Amino acid sequence: MTDGSSLPTPHSEVITDVLIVGGGPVGMTLALALADSALRVLLIDSRPYGAWADDPRALALAHGSRQLLERLNVWNAPAATAIREIHVSQRSGFGRTLIDAEDYGMPALGYVMRYRDLAAVLAARIKPEQLITRCSIDKMETGNDNATVTVTHEGAARRITAKLVVHAEGTPGSDPDVKVHDYGQHAIVAEVRPTPAHKQRAWERFTPDGPLALLPLGADYSLVFTVPPDKSAALLKLSDEDFLAALREQFGKRLNFTASGPRASFPLALRVRQQITGQRQVWIGNCAQTLHPVSGQGFNLGLRDAWELATALLDHGAGDPGVPTALAAYARGRRIDLRGSMAFTDSIVRLFSNDIPPLRFARGLGLLALDLYPPLRHFVARRMIWGARAWP
Ligand SMILES: Cc1cc2nc3c(=O)[nH]c(=O)nc-3n(C[C@H](O)[C@H](O)[C@H](O)COP(=O)(O)OP(=O)(O)OC[C@H]3O[C@@H](n4cnc5c(N)ncnc54)[C@H](O)[C@@H]3O)c2cc1C
Repeated sequence: MTDGSSLPTPHSEVITDVLIVGGGPVGMTLALALADSALRVLLIDSRPYGAWADDPRALALAHGSRQLLERLNVWNAPAATAIREIHVSQRSGFGRTLIDAEDYGMPALGYVMRYRDLAAVLAARIKPEQLITRCSIDKMETGNDNATVTVTHEGAARRITAKLVVHAEGTPGSDPDVKVHDYGQHAIVAEVRPTPAHKQRAWERFTPDGPLALLPLGADYSLVFTVPPDKSAALLKLSDEDFLAALREQFGKRLNFTASGPRASFPLALRVRQQITGQRQVWIGNCAQTLHPVSGQGFNLGLRDAWELATALLDHGAGDPGVPTALAAYARGRRIDLRGSMAFTDSIVRLFSNDIPPLRFARGLGLLALDLYPPLRHFVARRMIWGARAWP
């Protein structure tokens, strides 16, 4: 497929069973999970086809996510780098632990893949007639039997009627139903070349500015360097050489870095939608919950949203995917995973992003406990490998 399609014949009303708004990795996963069903599925995205190619992020994918993507036949093996171990430590404090895939009899704790490599494979499997790009919602009305959406596409207003509208538009803007906690941090992402070679070891280093993660990606590390907003602006302006010096200073002496790719920055906040279902609509992925990237949970969680939603619609929809019983089954089924992933990620950020001496000491004890008390380490490892539950 080389481009998204257009809506058919102007002036005609488009009717579908499931309208997915947002063709990011979560929306596309849902479209693929429903592909073999009898449901008519339409996916719209406001950006042009292939806009993901500019996304600078790399994503840590849990082993469970790999299994899920394999089931959909979209696992991009050549683009994935395995994480064999994760070293966790704090700057200017004692305590460290090492989580090793071998201890769990696993080939890897997870994988690292560029957002764009993931999105490209997903997009290539979507049927062209199901994906409409440069198309955004202007208005939406819901009733007992369906939702009516007015979109702008190719300069004209069009109407789409759907039994269910799935919101997968990514991080929400201002919305009274979304609770926001601003972490006062920005994440700078870049690909950096380490020396010595990474040997598939990831690093999670907690600093008073925020967490710093290095994820093995090809021969490089994908860096997530969390700092306060003013520091982020200054780091973006530095020359590569000065940026690498700042990175060495923050990370410590265990590794050296010899080259850096382009840098980009993302503001970080926790955004949680209070109701993930409504009349003839449902919210999934970042649109339902946007997490801090510290524990690499966001997309993994969104992927499980998409999978579980497809399952609920097929198991409980009886041909009508927007019936309240199907949406209630979905919301019920997601509760533990969503709450657990949010609490896990949020507590790590709050506990580790400060330099208060008693907390630094407590963190050291926590890291020591992780190292010395295997059940605690296994809990963290299982979350990395599977998320909140294992996929069969
Ligand atoms: C620095 C950083 C590092 C991260 N690292 C990890 C990690 O290691 N592991 C992990 O699991 N997660 C990670 N994440 C989180 C991950 O990127 C997100 O969870 C994931 O991208 C969410 O996918 P999505 O499809 O829900 O949303 P998005 O990727 O944001 O896609 C949303 C799509 O909706 C479209 N859209 C937006 N508005 C509209 C509209 N009105 N109409 C139509 N279309 C619209 C957009 O064009 C886009 O294509 C990280 C995030 C950041 C910022």
